[in-house]
Amino acid sequence: MNRDVIVVGAGIVGCAIAYELARRGASVEIVDERHPVGMGATQASAGVLAPYIEARDGNPLLDLGVRSLDLFDDFMTRVSSDSGIAVSYRRTGTIDVAVDESEMRALRTTADVLARRGVAARMLDRAGASAEEPHLAGDVIGALVIDAHGFVGAGDLTRALSVAARRHGAQLIEQSRVRRIVRTGAELIVETDRGSLNGTAVVLAAGSWSGTIDIEGVAARMPVRPVRGQLMHLTWSGPPLKRVTWSRRCYLVPWDDGSLLVGATVEDAGFDERATVAGVRDLLEAACDVVPQARTAGFRAARVGLRPGTSDDLPVIGPSSVVQGLVYATGHYRNGVLLAPLTAQLVADAMLDNRIDPMLEKVSPARFGL
Ligand SMILES: Cc1cc2nc3c(=O)[nH]c(=O)nc-3n(C[C@H](O)[C@H](O)[C@H](O)COP(=O)(O)OP(=O)(O)OC[C@H]3O[C@@H](n4cnc5c(N)ncnc54)[C@H](O)[C@@H]3O)c2cc1C
Repeated sequence: MNRDVIVVGAGIVGCAIAYELARRGASVEIVDERHPVGMGATQASAGVLAPYIEARDGNPLLDLGVRSLDLFDDFMTRVSSDSGIAVSYRRTGTIDVAVDESEMRALRTTADVLARRGVAARMLDRAGASAEEPHLAGDVIGALVIDAHGFVGAGDLTRALSVAARRHGAQLIEQSRVRRIVRTGAELIVETDRGSLNGTAVVLAAGSWSGTIDIEGVAARMPVRPVRGQLMHLTWSGPPLKRVTWSRRCYLVPWDDGSLLVGATVEDAGFDERATVAGVRDLLEAACDVVPQARTAGFRAARVGLRPGTSDDLPVIGPSSVVQGLVYATGHYRNGVLLAPLTAQLVADAMLDNRIDPMLEKVSPARFGL
């Protein structure tokens, strides 16, 4: 079915949805207050695709992440072909390290969960961990390797999604701030500081700022809050780390171009998008503690993003239970890159084919009265 859809927010979530809707034949406008696309939380993301880290049975986030990870190979092939842009994407796995017995116990618990699910994972002792990743510090006493994990260039992927969406006819409107969404008759009006847009449906994908947009007729408070994350961009020399290296205090992501990302802080700092001395110091110390050679790395930049967190740590995805034609896709917190392909699929299925995936029940806006 053809629909006029306005997507509010051109982060990775909004761009993935706009692309999916446009490719399936909908007429789409994407509106964002920043320029270029992906300048919210997405530009700071490490792009790690790792749903099984600290996996525990019964957590809906695990099921969402695993389903989305399964979509990634095809998603990347399609987006690269539709956009003509090559995006870095590796499935080289993760090595999750332990430095004491309690961390080892947590890794064993995760390994048991993965064994029950038939997911390939290997527990390593001290010698095994050091053979697997020679850069690890001497106090690492064991590790868990999960082969299915990987990472992707989140900024490039978002650009590619916006180009692919436009090639399928979507229009991108930048530097326009959405202030209010109002229903009038069969249409939804999106009021921006540069005029109004109207369509039969609106997708709200404005990340941490989703709650700052006034929606007429919705009394409930949007449960999304900004959770600041700082991430260091370093230049690495010598043989790179083999895969994403994860510890309780930081993670390190080795890129093909010789750079290394070190993330990430988790801070309650309102809408403050500044890097701080404490954030930079803590992350660099943590990185050097787990991989001592990080001391010789060059410092390129500190990136900062506001993750859209919710009170139950689950995203808010699906049709509004209050305003007809309004669909939410926000609150992806620490996993928006991982969850982008699945979010786009679930939203497009619901909007274009009226297919409500059972998984949407867990992340429904109705649980917050939205
Ligand atoms: C340091 C850090 C590391 C991370 N690492 C990972 C990782 O390894 N793996 C992973 O999966 N996730 C990771 N994340 C989380 C991930 O980045 C986010 O979940 C994801 O980027 C959210 O995407 P989004 O499109 O919902 O929001 P955003 O990227 O924030 O996009 C929202 C967009 O909406 C626009 N907007 C807001 N208000 C308005 C308005 N009123 N009018 C118009 N436009 C508006 C903004 O300008 C912005 O472009 C990380 C996040 C951080 C900060």
